[in-house]
Amino acid sequence: MKQPQAITAILQQLLEQCQPLYSQGKVADYIPALAKVAPDNAAIAVATIDGQIHTAGAADKNFSLQSVSKIFGLVMAMNRIGDDLWQRVNMEPSGQPFNSIVQVEWEKGIPRNPVINAGAILVADVLVSHYSASKSAFLTFIRRLVGEENIYADQQVYLSELEHGNRNAALAYLMKSFGNIEAEVPDVLAHYFHQCATAINCRQLATSLLFLANRGVQPHSNEQICSRRDAHRVNAILSTSGMYDQSGEFAFKVGLPAKSGVGGAIVAIVPQFGVITAWSPALNSFGNSVVGMQLISLFAEELGLSLF
Ligand code: GLN
Repeated sequence: MKQPQAITAILQQLLEQCQPLYSQGKVADYIPALAKVAPDNAAIAVATIDGQIHTAGAADKNFSLQSVSKIFGLVMAMNRIGDDLWQRVNMEPSGQPFNSIVQVEWEKGIPRNPVINAGAILVADVLVSHYSASKSAFLTFIRRLVGEENIYADQQVYLSELEHGNRNAALAYLMKSFGNIEAEVPDVLAHYFHQCATAINCRQLATSLLFLANRGVQPHSNEQICSRRDAHRVNAILSTSGMYDQSGEFAFKVGLPAKSGVGGAIVAIVPQFGVITAWSPALNSFGNSVVGMQLISLFAEELGLSLF
């Protein structure tokens, strides 16, 4: 593996190399709070399980966690209800856009996997039904993983998501019509939008997910966050489904479990090594960050990180 100084230098160089891509892609505009984020922003952070953190660009600038929040919700739900979860959500790639409705109808209210919107709303239902205050439990979980208290939901993003959430509401009501949502739909949606609205930066996000690269144990606290088996399972789901209907291409080109969000973040897990996070707000047609994809692809190639 490269020396620490070499990693920082590589990140810096990749960031410069990717600058011409800032103008490609389109910032998410389904809510005003995201539409106003300037596209010429980017960051990359690499946290390693032996405690190093390397960054380049705006690695301390907050962005909206959005769909990357689906990982944290999933781990919480797996910890809370164990394998019962898999009676209510599948683990297959969807091959459809992240907010697709058709498969929920075809598959009688069972979402294809927990990291598309339908699946994450199902997971939100588990959390609402099993925690007395699921929104704050979610924030407490992330804070504990990062080891910092200053992580909050952005209220403006949260309220905007609630106001423009008709498609997610349709998904939730459709699943409820099949008997696969237990709590009241408005409560489930409130939790889901609140976790999407979490404000975090690249450095914090890379640190938070180290347990997935370390068989379920968070290295800095030595705490078992989930079982080794579940860490492997989450990584498997991220490998097949984390980049939505671009997951096949990402596995082919990069070869790492990964998750993206429409706030422009992408995380990639490198088992036994660490976590790479990249952020840049302009998205491609799949909803994945253009610069983020390129930064992670080039870094993984440079270090030969593909698992395949
Ligand atoms: N809040 C977004 C939504 O529910 C999250 C989707 C995403 O990041 N892909 O549509």
